[in-house]
Parts: sequence; structure tokens; C-alpha cells
Amino acid sequence: MKVLIVGGGGREHALAWKCAAAARVTEVLVAPGNAGTATEAKVRNLAVGAEDIPALVALAVAERVDLTIIGPEGALVAGVVDAFEARGLKCFGPRRAAAQLEGSKAFSKQFLQRHGIPTARSATFTRASFDAAWVRRQRTPLVVKASGLAAGKGVVIATTLEEALAAAASMFAGQFGAAGHEVVIEEFLPGEEASFIVMADGEHILPLATSQDHKRRDDGDAGPNTGGMGAYSPAPVVTAAQHERIMCEVIEPAIRGLAADGMPYTGFLYAGIMVAPDGTPNVLEFNCRLGDPETQPVLMRLNSDLTLLCEAALAGRLDRVRADWDARAALGVVMAAAGYPDSVRTGDVLEGLEQAAQLPGKIFHAGTRLLDGRIVTSGGRVLCAVGLGESVAAAQREAYALAGAVHWNGAHYRRDIGYRAIARAAAPAA
Ligand code: AMP
Repeated sequence: MKVLIVGGGGREHALAWKCAAAARVTEVLVAPGNAGTATEAKVRNLAVGAEDIPALVALAVAERVDLTIIGPEGALVAGVVDAFEARGLKCFGPRRAAAQLEGSKAFSKQFLQRHGIPTARSATFTRASFDAAWVRRQRTPLVVKASGLAAGKGVVIATTLEEALAAAASMFAGQFGAAGHEVVIEEFLPGEEASFIVMADGEHILPLATSQDHKRRDDGDAGPNTGGMGAYSPAPVVTAAQHERIMCEVIEPAIRGLAADGMPYTGFLYAGIMVAPDGTPNVLEFNCRLGDPETQPVLMRLNSDLTLLCEAALAGRLDRVRADWDARAALGVVMAAAGYPDSVRTGDVLEGLEQAAQLPGKIFHAGTRLLDGRIVTSGGRVLCAVGLGESVAAAQREAYALAGAVHWNGAHYRRDIGYRAIARAAAPAA
């Protein structure tokens, strides 16, 4: 069996590594991949962009690919699955219509309201319909979001009304291009965040292991927002009772609602949840794909063959399979390049990867490429060092031992990934 993974980040390295581990998989192609996928057994990179849909279809046909898994949102929102299906090719992900859940926050908020799924109260504006008087009547803090895809950068938490008005004005003025033509303004929700990721086949749902990420650059969840500086699985904030509530109040009504609205959802569905102090699972956002870096620790714990799960979903048989998880915890530390997340420097040479490969755990590559036989940085988030352990604390030790073995100029990473889970484990039972 031949598998194609679309994308070139840490999530895609983990997907390629996991698929290549299945005995029935003969080869995994990655478009475009990175230096990590280039050096992984049974894996081959191809120089095709993750959003070049005609070239991806042509590649899948020419290479006789049996199953394609899409990593990033861009191609999904642009309709890559529809294009593969039109050629009779199996491609795991939502079609363009359902991918609007991520592609348009305005669409997603309307969907949540229509189906009674808990979320922050909000209003959506265009430049023409913008109502500054409405904004002035709201309580602060207010959250201002560009509706379209903005690579995780289109959200401003405004502590004053002036800040909220300024954020909306700069989005309308083109700060995020077309993504800011519509702006969602919503109430700020207190609580603890959790990522909840499932696989869906249009009707049935298979929840993946729970996880939680750290979005801020610096220790103690301080500093600017990033794509994610680390993640761990399981997430103790998602207790068994909370799991049940998220399934009943968010995931099941979402999958039913999408089918009822004529856009059945197949693929990974990621719900960003803010668990309110009273336990209500409020949806902050939906993503139509796996999270990065959550995927890396989550797939480290998956014992089942991922290709079988994807094929079952594509056949509408997700109710007939189950996923088997390693009982241990996994924790991933993202190592970032100089300047991340603002102006990233690239081209720094990585050292120590061979020594790190001798240690337990696994390093997934993200922003790396091969240059004259050496591995150099090529993006903001460079590596994700993942450890496994009997507790989150043990997984954390393993991950930091791995991270400590690798060096390059300007490398930086947080030293406290998982601190909330570790504090919870240390706290006396309530
Ligand atoms: P989003 O892309 O919509 O998930 O927003 C990015 C981040 O902004 C989230 O992970 C939260 O940390 C924060 N955020 C978004 N919406 C809210 C909200 N209504 N209340 C509090 N924090 C929020």
C-alpha cells in the first residue's frame, strides 16, 4: 500500500512516520515534506506544494497512491478532497463545504448558534456593516477575530474598547488580507483550554486521545502567541466526565448538524475548547485537520494502524474499528528558530541530531531542510522533541533530554511544557 501525506511540518512528519510503521505500507510519499521525512525509513519527499491541488492529484495518479492524508488546512479549504474524489482517489479530510468550519469563523459561529453548541456570544461584521456603537456597549476584554485563514495570527484579545476598535479597523484595512474582510467580535471566556480531536466518517465518530498545547512563546504562558510551543497527551483537564460532555454537547451535535446541513464531515475534526469554571465546554474554534504540535504526542501514543482507521472512515465504517492507545503519557517540546514568532532567521545548521537519535523518544522535524548534506533551519518551529513516560512528568524529562541534545544558533524553547498537568497530578485529590 502506498500513502501520500500532504504538508511539510511536524504534524506531517508524525503522520508519515506513523503510516510508515504499518507493515502493509510499502512506501509513504510526502509533498513537500522536510529534512525529517527525507531521512525517515520507507518515506520519500516530492517537490510538490501542499496547496498545489492539480499537481497533488497528478502525483497521486502517477504514483498510484492508495490513500492520501491531508495535513494543513489551506488545501482542504480550497477543495483538495473534492478534486481527489472527482478522480476516484481516496483522500482523508473534509470536502470544501465542510472545511468552511475552519475557513470561515463567521460560518462556524453561525453553525454553532444554529445547532445550539456552546460558544462565546458574538457578532460578525464587514467593513460596511461595522457597528462601533455595538462594540462600545460590550464589556471588555473582547476578542476580535479575522474570519478567514490567518495562520493562527488573526485573533486579538483586546483589554479596552479602543484596542478592540483598532484591531477591527486594521483587519478591515487588510492586515490579514481577505481573511479580515469579515471580523467576528466575541466575549472573552475564562477557563482552561483543551484540544479535542476526533475522526469522523460523515456519521460515526472516533475520538482520539486528548491533548493540550501551549500557545504562548515563554514560560508561564507569557509572551506572544505562536503556532504552539509544546503539547502533551492525555490532557488531565479532560476528565472522563468532561470527555462525555464534550462528545454530547459539541462533537455529536456538530457531526449531526453538518450532515443535516448537507455537508457530511469526513476527516479529522479539531475542536478548540475553553472549559468554563462550571464545566461548560465552549467552542473557541474548529479546525478541519489535526493540530500541530498536538499530533506529535498523540500519534506517539497510537498503537493502531492509522491507515486502517482512515480507510474505515472513508468507507463509512468508523463504528466498526477502535483505536488502541499506549497508556503512557507523551509530551512534545517545540524547539524554535531565532526570532520566532516575529521575524524568523533561517539557514542555521542543526547539530546533535545523531546523538539525540540514540536517546529514547522521537524528534519530529518541522522547519528543516537538507542543504549540501547538512540539516538547516527553514522555518519558525524547527523540531518537536517528544518523550514518553509513566506520568506527564516522566514524559517531560525524556522530552527535555532529547531537546538538550540538539543545538543551533538561536534555538529556543520553553522549559515548562506540561506544567499544568504536572501540578494537577501533584495536587491532593479533591
Ligand atoms: P482561535 O483561533 O479562535 O482558537 O483563537 C486563538 C486563541 O485565542 C485561543 O486558543 C484562545 O487562547 C484565545 N481565544 C480565542 N477566543 C477566545 C475567547 N472567546 N475567550 C478567551 N480566549 C479566547
